[in-house]
Amino acid sequence: MAKLLDGRPVAERIRASLQDALGERAATGRPRPNLVIVMAGDDPASASYAQSKTRLCERLGLKCAVHHFPATIGEAPLTQEIARFAQDPSVHGLLVELPLPKGLSTLDMFRGIPVTKDVEGMSVESVARLAQGSPLFVPATPAAVLRLLDHYEIDVQGRHVVVVGRSRVVGRPLASLLLTRNATVTVCHSFTPDLAAVTRQADILVVAMGQPHFIGPRHVRAGAVVIDVGTNYQDGVLRGDVDFAQVEPVASWISPVPGGVGLVTTSLLVQNVVRAAEIQEAPAQHPWVMGGLIT
Ligand code: NAP
Repeated sequence: MAKLLDGRPVAERIRASLQDALGERAATGRPRPNLVIVMAGDDPASASYAQSKTRLCERLGLKCAVHHFPATIGEAPLTQEIARFAQDPSVHGLLVELPLPKGLSTLDMFRGIPVTKDVEGMSVESVARLAQGSPLFVPATPAAVLRLLDHYEIDVQGRHVVVVGRSRVVGRPLASLLLTRNATVTVCHSFTPDLAAVTRQADILVVAMGQPHFIGPRHVRAGAVVIDVGTNYQDGVLRGDVDFAQVEPVASWISPVPGGVGLVTTSLLVQNVVRAAEIQEAPAQHPWVMGGLIT
């Protein structure tokens, strides 16, 4: 039976260190870090992600506001709203919930976010920095995958990691981060023929495909580590991309949904907001080119 990659102790440790950092900020009279979330349209998953970020910010004592615009807002007005928050010195972290409604360009929206406020690491500059191995902010979901592995002392160096999914939010930045950590990385997507033949080669299999319970035992080599990023609501039930009950007897380690990657993701996003406040307050102490990974 596989051991559980439980996200709870990992998230608790991050939250405890955030509480310390926030306590120190308050004691020295520095303002509460301030996150602005921009949402357009009514995607239920986006609304739920925004809510969990707001909830954690409130619990830890950060400021957080969701600015919700109709799907019909149009590109120019939304860009202007983002520019307003980008220029506001009281806003430390700025993010746009994806997916955006049809007709709105994700790239253009993120172009308006300065790299020092880009706590999701989605702007062109942030993506370039990550690809070069010197990110300012690591996108929270791939960072959560690495944090989970670190917590349970699973080293990726020299291991074959297969990532299923190549989205800008998860698969691509995760592949970059894994390369920086000296893993051998294979990225699969919907054009990969015979997916199972590739995933069965993985020492570590990370699944971020958005297909509930798609990955079964035939996709997993005996003894592999399996990390499920999937967050899919099906008939009101939250399901991962991995069929946990079927895969668990085959794997050596496996992350549950819920209770795995998702729990850690929100905490790391909030950590990025606190870090953004620190960078903006004392830019000289945060040189632009940083070695190593900031996770
Ligand atoms: P996405 O943008 O829809 O990307 C899905 C990826 O999976 C695409 O690259 C797609 O290939 C690939 N794919 C889909 N079906 C496939 C198949 N049958 N065989 C091989 N590849 C396939 O999704 P995402 O934003 O990366 O999210 C993925 C999952 O993670 C979702 O369930 C999402 O809700 C969840 N998520 C969780 C967190 C968290 O914190 N836990 C955060 C973000 C997302 P193509 O590129 O060829 O289309």
